[in-house]
Amino acid sequence: MKNLHNALQLKQLLLFRQFGYCYTDIVPSELEEESIELPDHIETLKKLVLECHLCELSKHRQKVVFGEGNPKANLLFVGEGPGATEESTGRPFVGRAGEVLTNMIENVLQLPRSEVYISNIVKCRPPNNRVPTESEALTCRPYLQRQIALIKPRIIVTLGATAYRYLTNDDSPIGRVRGSTIEGDGYKIIPTFHPSYLLRNPSAKKEALSDLLKVKALL
Ligand code: SF4
Repeated sequence: MKNLHNALQLKQLLLFRQFGYCYTDIVPSELEEESIELPDHIETLKKLVLECHLCELSKHRQKVVFGEGNPKANLLFVGEGPGATEESTGRPFVGRAGEVLTNMIENVLQLPRSEVYISNIVKCRPPNNRVPTESEALTCRPYLQRQIALIKPRIIVTLGATAYRYLTNDDSPIGRVRGSTIEGDGYKIIPTFHPSYLLRNPSAKKEALSDLLKVKALL
């Protein structure tokens, strides 16, 4: 999926499915595909995303959390979506889970946090921190795909099941796929647990450490 045109058509089809339709012709979009190509520069893309109202999550958000870090990073972390602290600051992974992620980056990978890039599948906070719906995730995904195309990371670490699912189109449980290496389009994907999961399940830190050591070796 290269642009928002495809995402919007998919969103429309998902909506029809919710209404009980099993089959429909593709509804022609009133927007020309060319008119919604995403920008070639990360700061221009950010400006566009900060004004986005394409899905339901825009209704209650305080701030859009675009992502941050080195725009030429070799390593990209992708989480699920912003939480309360992230939404109020407009920055990704700055709450308690953010502390865990920062420790992983600085203590295990021995990199400054500013050297990597950090983003999410959805850029607006789902109410009560629920998992984004399929429609929300697929509507927002082109922004992440554009971030990936512009940053050109060598390795993408997906944090938790949602990030893994929407970057690979694979529904496998995270416990089964974590630590594996999936070849992407010019990059490798290494899934691991979400830092929030590690806060709730400290015994899983050992496995997350092993995943990160693999990332370190590949870097
Ligand atoms: S979650 Fe993504 S698609 Fe939905 S309003 Fe926010 S930026 Fe737009």
